[in-house]
Amino acid sequence: MTGTKAPRQLPRAEVVARRDVARDLFILWLRPEVPYAFTPGQYCTIGVDGTERPYSIVSAPHEPALELFVELVPHGELTSKLDRLRPGDVVSLRPRAKGVFTLDARAASHLMIATVTGIAPFVSILRDALHRGAPTRRFVVLHGGSYQDELAYHEEVERLAARHPGTIVYVPTVSRPADPRNCPWRGATGRVNTLVDAAVDRFALTPTDTAVYACGHPGMVTDVARHLGAKGFAVREERYWTEKDADEPRPSRTGTEARGAPDRRL
Ligand SMILES: Cc1cc2nc3c(=O)[nH]c(=O)nc-3n(C[C@H](O)[C@H](O)[C@H](O)COP(=O)(O)OP(=O)(O)OC[C@H]3O[C@@H](n4cnc5c(N)ncnc54)[C@H](O)[C@@H]3O)c2cc1C
Repeated sequence: MTGTKAPRQLPRAEVVARRDVARDLFILWLRPEVPYAFTPGQYCTIGVDGTERPYSIVSAPHEPALELFVELVPHGELTSKLDRLRPGDVVSLRPRAKGVFTLDARAASHLMIATVTGIAPFVSILRDALHRGAPTRRFVVLHGGSYQDELAYHEEVERLAARHPGTIVYVPTVSRPADPRNCPWRGATGRVNTLVDAAVDRFALTPTDTAVYACGHPGMVTDVARHLGAKGFAVREERYWTEKDADEPRPSRTGTEARGAPDRRL
């Protein structure tokens, strides 16, 4: 261990692996020292030296490690510490997972919209649904980022979609298609919130049979909730930070603040 401390009164979790996804994006796998139960879509609260923050859980409950997908926020208090963690280090882990951003079992179709790290709860839900057997529900997953290398889990969800055609649809999109970092990119382009109308039409999603989930950048979540809410859809919302922060331009790569026209449709 490299000596990272966690408050003794909270359970601890050991870092067992780490993978860099892109500049400022990484995945951590943690092994909790106590049994840790959660429902796919929920978040855990971890900390280092007393600084704690919530993180959506990527892994499904049947998996041995708790998997988290983290964006290093410029000058962020905890993420700068998480970024320094290596296997063998420990974090504190609040004993109970929280949140109601979970699957609405009444709906036949699920439209899931994420910016970058907001894909986390959807991966958990998909892994769990497939672990339980061939899903009878339909999942349409829209995942946006500025750059293609930010779209972690792209390959995994694409593979699942290929294995379960008609059940899982995955639409990744980049908002800066002309940037050299996105070359070559042959998928959808534009901010992810601008793709929802096309998804609703193409997959004949209706408010009576569809649950909508929006996760990640607060500007995107608010836009989707307003837009689809006005059309009668119930939208579950998970904002990773606050609207006030979203109004102030920050150098965030989860950025999808404004509604605009998609550059290229689904
Ligand atoms: C329910 C829930 C689930 C979350 N799940 C995840 C997750 O799976 N992965 C993840 O990376 N983060 C997630 N977050 C955000 C996370 O809890 C922290 O807020 C984030 O990691 C920044 O913590 P920090 O201490 O480094 O920054 P702080 O020092 O707390 O914050 C610095 C500033 O940046 C803002 N900020 C926070 N996140 C971002 C961001 N991504 N881009 C731009 N500004 C930001 C804050 O509001 C604050 O104003 C989640 C938040 C919530 C509420």
